[in-house]
Amino acid sequence: MSDLPCFYAPETADHDPQFWMLRGVPSRNKETAERAERLLAGIADAGLTVHPVPPTDRAAMHEVHTARYLEFLRDGWAEWQKAPGAGPEVVANLHPQKVGQTYPEGITGRAGWHMADTGCPLGQHTYAAALRGVDTALAATEAVRKGARAAYALCRPPGHHADADTAAGHCFLNNSAIAAQTLRGDHDRVAILDIDVHHGNGTQAIFHDRADVFTVSIHADPSNFYPFYLGHAHEVGQGAGKGANLNLPLPIGSGDEDWLAALDRALARIRDHAPGALVVALGLDAHENDPFKGLAVTTPGFAEAARRIAALNLPSVIVQEGGYVSEDLTRNLSSFLRGWIGVRQPV
Ligand code: ZN
Repeated sequence: MSDLPCFYAPETADHDPQFWMLRGVPSRNKETAERAERLLAGIADAGLTVHPVPPTDRAAMHEVHTARYLEFLRDGWAEWQKAPGAGPEVVANLHPQKVGQTYPEGITGRAGWHMADTGCPLGQHTYAAALRGVDTALAATEAVRKGARAAYALCRPPGHHADADTAAGHCFLNNSAIAAQTLRGDHDRVAILDIDVHHGNGTQAIFHDRADVFTVSIHADPSNFYPFYLGHAHEVGQGAGKGANLNLPLPIGSGDEDWLAALDRALARIRDHAPGALVVALGLDAHENDPFKGLAVTTPGFAEAARRIAALNLPSVIVQEGGYVSEDLTRNLSSFLRGWIGVRQPV
């Protein structure tokens, strides 16, 4: 295997979400299978090899997610189809506040319970694809456990907005958290560094009261950007996990200089935490031309970030999170991967 083996499961392309809604206007979901095609081109451009994804035991998935949530993902689409007048995808139209409320039996109520927003429609092939996304993250994790210094998982759907019991923001199963939980089998402490433009709220929630998994996220300020309700600097973890979460929100539109300065702060804190291994939740949507327009990182900025993260010299599992279709998506992944393996950028 190369210095940086890459993994992709082509059947994840069967997940092709349609529904999304922004400011009351339904529109086409942005988490398209075309993303994977563009990211695969980025792997090829970096001169790296894509390996097939074997089945995995997914034990860590059952530690990270609740049984009833996994059941909902598995059976929810078929149950939805039996409901009178149901649309082609499960989309929640209820927003339970949960505290003091009772878990419902019916599929409409359960959809509201397990889906935080309209960005994560559950289609016929979603659960099978999400499981293969988990397998992809675990294949990269296994490569690192067997001695690769780093491995890259092209996961679709992404995972970092999904918490133990909830889908959200294009995410169903938290691939990064499952990779970290698996790495805990070999290491007393693990860190997750999330550089997606959106705060990794699901990941933070999963490990919020744990000290053994240090969670760090650099993202656009959630006071007026998804995921809105988490991602603020004052969230530092709770209980045993107090001090094991670091949020570095940046003003909307921040560019390379501020982003890389935040990254240096993150890396210093990760060094202090002394983890045995690292998961990089790699969103490429911090780019200046990403449709979400949260930050303004440049293509060379991703290479520089990769160089600095790789300099931690930790066994590292790089898990694809967001990053949406633009002319730059391919070269942004290529830039990051080339930066990681120390290949010079084409001038
Ligand atoms: Zn994102």
